[in-house]
Amino acid sequence: MGSFAGVGNRNLMKLTKYFCCQRKFSTRNRESKNKLVNNIKKLQLLKSGVCEKNFEKGKYMVFSEQSVLLSKNDPLYLILWGSFEGAGEHVADVTKQSVLLSVSGEGNVHFAVRVPVETRQAVQRSFGGEFVSLRTSLFLLSSADSALVSQGWSLLSWGVAARFCEACGGALATAGAGGHKRCSGCGAVRYPSLSPVGIALVTSEDRSRALLVRQHAHPPGMFTCIAGFVEVGESVEENVRREVAEEVGLEAKEIEYVGSQHWALPASRLMIGCIAVVTETEFSLDETELEAAAWCTPREVRNALTRVAGQRGVQSGEPGHMWVPPRGAIAHHLLQHWLTTYHAG
Ligand SMILES: [Zn+2]
Repeated sequence: MGSFAGVGNRNLMKLTKYFCCQRKFSTRNRESKNKLVNNIKKLQLLKSGVCEKNFEKGKYMVFSEQSVLLSKNDPLYLILWGSFEGAGEHVADVTKQSVLLSVSGEGNVHFAVRVPVETRQAVQRSFGGEFVSLRTSLFLLSSADSALVSQGWSLLSWGVAARFCEACGGALATAGAGGHKRCSGCGAVRYPSLSPVGIALVTSEDRSRALLVRQHAHPPGMFTCIAGFVEVGESVEENVRREVAEEVGLEAKEIEYVGSQHWALPASRLMIGCIAVVTETEFSLDETELEAAAWCTPREVRNALTRVAGQRGVQSGEPGHMWVPPRGAIAHHLLQHWLTTYHAG
């Protein structure tokens, strides 16, 4: 007794000595030589409390209703980051109205803030940018900027919506620079809600075709990947297998994880992107969910991606032709991944 199973006392002494030696090299709060690690550690500290100086030196992403302030830098758009003083001209108390987002590669602390709708024109004049609808902005920005807009909108929206504790009904007070709230009644800490969604590009066993689908509500001509909420008790693989079976009546034999993305609309979601390989090709549509599905060749997928390249906005593929979600959507990324992985030549 008193020793790990399979480890004799002599070996246990050696093991203890080893761990004690390792501890000597672990110093708390020592600055790392790695810039990314330092920025993440800085953000971790800020989440427990942002001091006045951080607010004053911060950079502010500005929202007005369901739109965000951007600057045009042809052909791309960029987030227009405002100063503390600039934001203060339009918001009564910037430190109380802001939510903490990130620490940039240059070490700048990023916040998001919402300005009153009646100040919209004045903000555009003084900052020099333009307010672009949230949905459109997610397709115009780089993936890094799009992720920040998605995060900012979700945190600000949650800050307004989550007012009372679901356990005791007590009022919730903002803490952690908008990243969580504390109940004034029972002291419980509440975090912003986030729903995981599995999204899968279905491909044939030889990867020669991709099965794209469209829902009744999709804009005319748009086809995309199969997606659905992860249910309680499911793994991502089980979720994808269920969604593919429910929507097109096929069994996914292999599921490969490709990447993930936070998406703010219509509510805060974590999109988990996969490739799902099916061995059968004859599908049967769930007509309550889907309007149509089609097996597409690499050429058809490439043409559909080209049709939405460089567009401003989410709609308007050529009439009569299939098109797919634009750059910025994870479905677009999955289609590009499928082409470059299996059809690069
Ligand atoms: Zn409570």
